[in-house]
Amino acid sequence: TTEANKPVKPSGLAIMGGTFDPVHNGHLRTAVEILDHYHYSALKLVPCFQPVHKDRPSVSALQRLEMAKLATSSDVRLSVDAREIDREGPSYTIDTLRDIRSEIGAEESLIMVLGMDSFLSLPTWHDWQQLVKYAHLLVVSRPGWEPDLISELSAFCENYRAASSHELQCAPSGRVWFETLTPLGISSSMIRALARKNESIAYLLPEPVQQYIEQHQLYR
Ligand code: ATP
Ligand code: MG
Repeated sequence: TTEANKPVKPSGLAIMGGTFDPVHNGHLRTAVEILDHYHYSALKLVPCFQPVHKDRPSVSALQRLEMAKLATSSDVRLSVDAREIDREGPSYTIDTLRDIRSEIGAEESLIMVLGMDSFLSLPTWHDWQQLVKYAHLLVVSRPGWEPDLISELSAFCENYRAASSHELQCAPSGRVWFETLTPLGISSSMIRALARKNESIAYLLPEPVQQYIEQHQLYR
């Protein structure tokens, strides 16, 4: 084989934080597309215990965790990291990234995947400018959200934007990159609203998660 078509050896870790109230196919399709495009060996969903900028989730942290586990059991590359739920209290991403970085060592590439909506709110996050010390930020498109960056955020992007997506694999942290994925207009709030009205939530999320929601009568 030539250099160009040699298979790329997967390495590095991707994480995706969220409330996952509940986890849905928008999250999961994002995860697998990133793993395939970037050749990261694993992606971990990191459900928060208590979102800092949102209302309290409508189901318990353990139920959100359980649903995330059900959703990821069919792909060996996907798993759930429960550290924020174990830690309790407000879930600050910076604490999580610092923790993970200390576990994987200084050399390994770590990317934090976040949707455009989350990225636009970044300047309200605790110590947000420090996040790139520990990980790359990989910002993925989300239907309905345009990259309208306020000046603070566009200055940040100017500082840290990668020259190509390849840089994310080569350095452990410190770069920002934007990626356009298959658009899926699915959100947890939409699923909660459907369940509340007693309408079907089928095909928006994995079947085992749908069954769990029905069994436990969540979001009614
Ligand atoms: P809610 O409607 O309750 O806010 P949500 O669908 O936005 O829920 P979160 O748990 O808040 O789900 O999202 C976790 C992460 O996944 C965020 O970074 C978010 O931007 C991203 N994300 C969620 N849904 C999609 C989607 N359909 N496409 C791309 N990214 C998504
Ligand atoms: Mg959201």
